[in-house]
Amino acid sequence: MSIILDGSPASEGIASGRVFLLEWGVPVVPHESITDELVDAEIRRFHDARAWASERLKETKASTESRLGPVEARIFDPQILMLEDSAVIEGTARYIRENRLSAQRAFELRMLELRAMWHRTSHPMVLDRLNDLEDLMIRVLHRLLDRNDPTDLATSGEGVIVVASNLTPSLAVQLDLEHVLGIATDAGTRTSHWAMLARSAKIPAVVGLGNVSTIATEGQEAIVDGRIGRIVLEPEQGERSIFEIRQKKLSVWEDEISVIAAMESVTKDGQYIELRANLDLPGEAKDARDHGAVGVGLFRTEFLVVGRSSMPDGEEQFQAYRHVAETFTKGAVYIRTFDLGGDKFPMFLNMPEEPNPFLGWRAIRVCLDEPELFRTQLRAILRATAYGDVRLMIPLVNDVDEIRQVHALLEEEAARLATEGVAYNAGFKVGVMIETPAAALDAAELARYSDFFSIGTNDLVQYTLAVDRTNTRLAKLYNPFHPAVVRQLHQVARVGRAAGIEVSVCGEMASNPLGAFLLMGLDITALSMAWPSLPEIKKLVRAIRIEDARSSARDALAAATSRDVIECLVKGIGDSVDLSVFSGRWSLSLPG
Ligand code: PEP
Ligand code: MG
Repeated sequence: MSIILDGSPASEGIASGRVFLLEWGVPVVPHESITDELVDAEIRRFHDARAWASERLKETKASTESRLGPVEARIFDPQILMLEDSAVIEGTARYIRENRLSAQRAFELRMLELRAMWHRTSHPMVLDRLNDLEDLMIRVLHRLLDRNDPTDLATSGEGVIVVASNLTPSLAVQLDLEHVLGIATDAGTRTSHWAMLARSAKIPAVVGLGNVSTIATEGQEAIVDGRIGRIVLEPEQGERSIFEIRQKKLSVWEDEISVIAAMESVTKDGQYIELRANLDLPGEAKDARDHGAVGVGLFRTEFLVVGRSSMPDGEEQFQAYRHVAETFTKGAVYIRTFDLGGDKFPMFLNMPEEPNPFLGWRAIRVCLDEPELFRTQLRAILRATAYGDVRLMIPLVNDVDEIRQVHALLEEEAARLATEGVAYNAGFKVGVMIETPAAALDAAELARYSDFFSIGTNDLVQYTLAVDRTNTRLAKLYNPFHPAVVRQLHQVARVGRAAGIEVSVCGEMASNPLGAFLLMGLDITALSMAWPSLPEIKKLVRAIRIEDARSSARDALAAATSRDVIECLVKGIGDSVDLSVFSGRWSLSLPG
C-alpha cells in the first residue's frame, strides 16, 4: 500500500525516483586501541582517508563551480584547508602513535579537541567554522569506518529523491545536484534558504513532512510533488497515473512559458503590473529574463559571503552586480545589501550563536556594525549603477536612523569613487524593505528618507504573527492572509502612494495567486517573485480586472479572520482563471 505524506510545497515540479536517505550526522566511533605493529599502517590509513576526502571535496567543488559558479564553489575551501592543517594532521597522528588509538578514534578525538578549543578561544562561537568542522568529521569518519560518504548520491548512477530530516544551504550545495530529482524533508519551510536554492536549481522539493526521514526506506520508490507539497512512497498504479498526467501537464506548461513571457503584463481593464524576479544567484538572471521578468525586484547578495572564509573583495562583487544589471538593460535591478544572521552566517564574521537569531544581530544591524564589510559592498553596488538602473535596497530597517547612517556611508563612498575617477550614477536610488511591523507602522517617516519601499512579506508575516518562518511545527500559523498582515500591506501601500514613492512586494506572497490578486487590489503594481512563478502570475494578471481585485481587497480589509480574507479573494477571482493551473496553491492558501 502506498504511503502519502503531506507537507508544504517548497519548490515546484514533480519527480519520481528511488529514495536516498541522507543521514548527515557524526557516526558513533567505537573505542578501539591498536597494537604497536599497527601504528604505521593506521597512520597511513588516516592519510589515505584524508587524501580521499580532499579529492572528493575538490571534485564536488569543481562540479559546483561549473554548475553554480566560482563563488558558490568556495563553500568547500574551509574543509579542504582543514585537511591540510598541521593541527589536524599531527594531532591525529600523535594520538595514534602515543595513545595507540585507531585512526578513526584518534581523528575524532583531535577534532573534538579542536572544536572545544574554538569554543573557548573564539567566543562568540564561530558557527560556520564549527559546521565545517562537523561536516569534515562526518566525511572522514565515514571513510575510516568503511561507510559510504553520506552525500555520495552517484553510487547508482541514477537520479534519486533525497529524503532528510532537514538541509542547510551548505549541505544543499554539497549534494551533487545533477543526481537529485527531488527533495523531501521532515523540517524546513518554503522560505528556508536551502529551499530557495532548490527552486533556483529547479529541483522539486517538499518540506515540513514531519517524519518522512523515519518512514521512508532506502531505495523505496517515491513521487515528490513540489506543487502540492506531497510525497507518495511505494506509489500504486493509480498514483503513478496521476503522476504521469501531472508531468504531461507540466511539460505542456513549459512549452507555454516562452509564449507567456513575451506577452504584456496587463489586466483585462488595462492596468500594467510590473513583474520582476527575485534572484539568489547571479547565474539565474538569464532564466529570469526568459521567464518574462522585466527587472530584478530582489537580488539577494548573501551568496557572496555565506560559507566563505574571507570577505569577498569589491571587484568580485562588482562583477556579479554588473552581470545582473547588464542582463536587464530595460528594467530596474534592486540589489539588497547583505541580509546576514537569521539562518545565514558567513564564517569570517565570527557571528555569535544567539538564542533567537531572527530577533538578533541580523541584516542592516550587522552591516552597520561591520563598516568594512558594508562599505565594500556599497562601493561595489555604486559602481554597478553605471551599468543599468541599479538601486540599493536595505533589509530589516526599523527606523529612520538606520537609513540616515546608510546615506552617510553612501555619500562618503560615492565621494571616494568620484575622487578616484570611478564611474557611478550620481542619481542612484536608495530604498528600504518593509519587513517589520515597526517599519510598516512608521512607514510615513521612513518614506521621507526612501526612494522606494519593497515589502518583504516573508519576514513581515513572521514578525507580525510572532511565528518563526523556519519552524515547521508552526507552518500552519504562518499565514500571509492574516488580517493584521493585510492591514499593514494596505497601510504601507497607502503611505507610499501619498509620499509619491514606488511600493512593490518581493516576498513569496507575490507568487501566490491569491496573494498577487490581493496585492494588486491594494494598488501594489510591482511584484517580484522567484522567477519560475512569473508566467503563472502573468497569466493571472491577464485574466483579471483590476477593479475586481480592488473590490475584493476592500472586502478583505473588512474581514475578521484569515479564512474570511481568503474567501473574499477566491470569490473575487471567480472563474476568471483556470484553477487547474494553480491547483496546488489553492489548498496551500486555505488554512485548516
Ligand atoms: C522577505 O522577507 O520577504 C524577503 C523577500 O527577504 P528574505 O526572504 O530574503 O528574508
Ligand atoms: Mg526578509
